[in-house]
Amino acid sequence: MLRHAVEDASTGSDSDYSNSWISWFLSSKGNEYFCEVEEDYILDRFNLTGLNTEVEHYVQALDLITDNLDDEYLEELRGSLDIQARLLYGLIHARWIVTARGLQKMLEKYKKADFGRCPRVLCLSQPLLPVGLTDVPYEKSVKLYCGRCEDLYSPKSSRHGSIDGAYFGTSFPHLLFLVYPSLIPPKSGPSDLGRPPAANSAEEAAARRRVRQREELADGSGEGLGEGISTAAVALRADRYRPRIFGFQVNEIAKLQRWQEAVRDRQVARLEALENPP
Ligand SMILES: [Zn+2]
Repeated sequence: MLRHAVEDASTGSDSDYSNSWISWFLSSKGNEYFCEVEEDYILDRFNLTGLNTEVEHYVQALDLITDNLDDEYLEELRGSLDIQARLLYGLIHARWIVTARGLQKMLEKYKKADFGRCPRVLCLSQPLLPVGLTDVPYEKSVKLYCGRCEDLYSPKSSRHGSIDGAYFGTSFPHLLFLVYPSLIPPKSGPSDLGRPPAANSAEEAAARRRVRQREELADGSGEGLGEGISTAAVALRADRYRPRIFGFQVNEIAKLQRWQEAVRDRQVARLEALENPP
């Protein structure tokens, strides 16, 4: 465990944490989004089905994260094994957080706003939830989902921004809200998990002012719309996030999104008419 102790010194975490690989991993800087996967879950090989084809040196990586690795392997494989152990833990983590116990652990982190808060002022500091855009590793980094504005954000810190989205998976936040519907934040007004409204009233007023200014701007002759880029084109280019649970669209949201897209298309047509007068 010397190797871990050395890395701990550089991240400033507590040395008490260095007695198991998982506690070391969780206490390392940048890994704050991860929750603890219970050992029972990892040791049940059924839960790991198929991961042996995703991870190189699978057996040793598994031994490393469960603290059963012989020291001779540690010397031999060192660097590469560490990467594979992280990958394995991440992929197990994605499976774990959609189990009842895993959801509960992530719920505790959500309540503490461990994943940050929505930057949109009108979301009143709504806590965010991590989500992957794909379940395949090495494709997309993790994003943060706001249950209030139903939009995605990139993590503020680059340490979090480089975490693989597959370690959280595409279903997690939506499954959490499905299992705990009382936690679905209201679309307006304060929620239990947001910051107290007093702290927000100034920000909110500023946001309302900005919205008003934007509306006034739009009412005018269309000045300030940028150089040559039509608003309609930008609106059409914007990718929309589609919540999915195990690949299936969440029904209510899918219906809502079809309606929203119809409204958007009508608005785009109006903008086009405005920007290209006959
Ligand atoms: Zn939001």
